[in-house]
Amino acid sequence: MPALENRTALITGGASGIGRAIAEAYLHEGAQVVIADLDVSATVPGAAAHVALDVSDPASVQDAVATTTGLLGRIDILVNSAGILTEAPLAEMEPRVWSETIAVDLTGVFLCCRYVVPGMIERRWGRIINIASQLGIKGGRSLTHYAAAKAGVIGLTKSLALEVAEHNVLVNAIAPGPVETPMVAGITEEWKSAKRAELPLGRFGRPEEVAPTAVLLATDPGGNLYVGQTLGPNSGDVMP
Ligand code: NAD
Repeated sequence: MPALENRTALITGGASGIGRAIAEAYLHEGAQVVIADLDVSATVPGAAAHVALDVSDPASVQDAVATTTGLLGRIDILVNSAGILTEAPLAEMEPRVWSETIAVDLTGVFLCCRYVVPGMIERRWGRIINIASQLGIKGGRSLTHYAAAKAGVIGLTKSLALEVAEHNVLVNAIAPGPVETPMVAGITEEWKSAKRAELPLGRFGRPEEVAPTAVLLATDPGGNLYVGQTLGPNSGDVMP
């Protein structure tokens, strides 16, 4: 039997990169998937629907959650993959860049959890998978805003996991090393080649290499092993 048969999933940022690879893996494992993204032009074949979403806007998140619940009946699995990244040294950073990054990469995760968790508690089943980053653990030059947001996602994950585990709602994060997606396309080649040298595989990860961890964390019983953990594929760290 496919691992996620009869499960429903809402995937933010599912139109591209890591979120898209997770959506494809979930569909392969039998889940019904709604893709929620700022970009509604890129479609994932087999998805139940594509919903317009700005994760930084509370009203937009509430709308997307209501639409998804209306379509699928419930949300069993929430994957928070929507995110943005720009390089900016702190001494030159426009405060607006800081605020936007925190709004999307951290507050966006809070808002999606905020409006999905009550239904999960009510049904006593839920899995939340937040896409953090190794930069949230190790930091990154010219990425204080992004690293701070991702460190926040890890803190949010651990704390929410403590709050809701008793309701059989399990919350975990994945903190990948660099992954070849449109997000990193704009980063300087100098940064990328320095990063490659640190990586255990000597190359950036691929989105489909992150997806199996997101499948494991969504399954029952596989996901039951993990509560409030941050798993780090291709990071150079030993998995916790
Ligand atoms: P990506 O740019 O390919 O995908 C990000 C998606 O998020 C896009 O479809 C974009 O439209 C969407 N998005 C952006 N802002 C949004 C908003 N306000 N509301 C809704 N959707 C929005 O990037 P990716 O590399 O697949 O990144 C996915 C997640 O993985 C991000 O949270 C990112 O920070 C994280 N991550 C990426 C890497 C990497 O090296 N690529 C490494 C670690 C973590």
